[in-house]
Amino acid sequence: MKCSKCGREAVYHARYEGKYYCHKHFNEMVEKKVKQTVRKYRMIKRGERIAVGVSGGKDSVVLLHLLAKLRKKFPFEIVAITIDEGIEGYRPPSVEIAKKNAELLGIEHHVYSFKEYIGFTLDETVQIMGSFEKGERVGACSYCGVWRRWLLNYAAQDVQADKLAIGLNLDDEAQVFLMNIMRGDIARLGRTGPYYEVIHEDLVPRIKPLREVPEKEIVLYAVLNNIEVDFSECPYAVEAFRAEIRDWLNEMEEKHPGTKYQILRSYDKLFPILAKHYAKRELNRCKICGQPTTGEICKACQFKLQVQKKAKELGLTFKVE
Ligand SMILES: [Zn+2]
Ligand SMILES: [Zn+2]
Repeated sequence: MKCSKCGREAVYHARYEGKYYCHKHFNEMVEKKVKQTVRKYRMIKRGERIAVGVSGGKDSVVLLHLLAKLRKKFPFEIVAITIDEGIEGYRPPSVEIAKKNAELLGIEHHVYSFKEYIGFTLDETVQIMGSFEKGERVGACSYCGVWRRWLLNYAAQDVQADKLAIGLNLDDEAQVFLMNIMRGDIARLGRTGPYYEVIHEDLVPRIKPLREVPEKEIVLYAVLNNIEVDFSECPYAVEAFRAEIRDWLNEMEEKHPGTKYQILRSYDKLFPILAKHYAKRELNRCKICGQPTTGEICKACQFKLQVQKKAKELGLTFKVE
C-alpha cells in the first residue's frame, strides 16, 4: 500500500480514518496529535517545568521523546522521574532503559525508590503480606499503585515541577472509562479527565499528552524510530478484569474502527459535567506525611503502617540500604 500523503511505501494503516502512512508521515501524524492534545487542553505553558514519569516501558519512553521534540517548538523544561518499586529481575533493566533515554535526550533524570521513601521494596511487601489468608490479602498491585501515585507526586514536588506528565494512551483511557462505568464508579470519572484542575497546592497536576494516541501507534513509533523501550511485563500484574476489557475493546475496534476514539469523545463530553458534580472535595493533609488526602491519614501511609505491623508480628526486620 502507498502513503495517502506522498505515495511512498506505507508502513501503517490507520483504519479509524482510512489512511495509509509512510514512515515520515506516520511520525508527523503522531507528533501532531500530541501537539494538538497539549494545546487543546493547555497542558503545558511556556517556560513550565514538566516532570515526566518514565518507567522505561513503551508509553513513558515515547512520551519523553515526543515532549523533547515538542520542546523545540516552544520552550519548556523537562525532568524525568523513575519510580523503582523494587521488583527483582523486572525493574533494574527498565530503570536502566529510562536512564539511557534521558541521557540520549539530554534530560535530567532522578530515580525514587520504594525502599528509600516507603521503607519496603514491592518484593519485600509481597513477602510480608502475600502469604496471608484471603480477606486480609490485598494484591501487590494495590500497594504498588497507591505507593507509586504517592511517590510520583512527592518526586514531582521534590524536583519542583509545575506538572506531572504520565504516559497514558488512548487504549488506557478507553479501558479505564469502561471499567469505571462497569463498576458504577462514576465519581472517579469526574476526577481525572482530558484536563486537570488545581485541586490542592501540594497535588501536582497530572497531564496525559498521549491520551489521543492508540497503543499500536506508540509501539510502532518506538520501533520505527529505534527507540529503546522495555516490553517486559510486570511479574505481579494480574488485572484480570482489565485484560478482559482490553481484549473486548480490541475486538470492537477491529469490527468497528474508531470505537476507541468514540469512547474517548464520549468521556470528554461527559467530563465537564462529572467534574462539576464530583470533583470538588475538601482535602486535608495526611497526619503522617503531610500530603493531600480526603481522610486523616492517606492511603499510602495506611498501607505502610499495615506492612510495618505485619513485619513486626512476623519478627522480620528490613534494613534500609
Ligand atoms: Zn508519506
Ligand atoms: Zn500520608
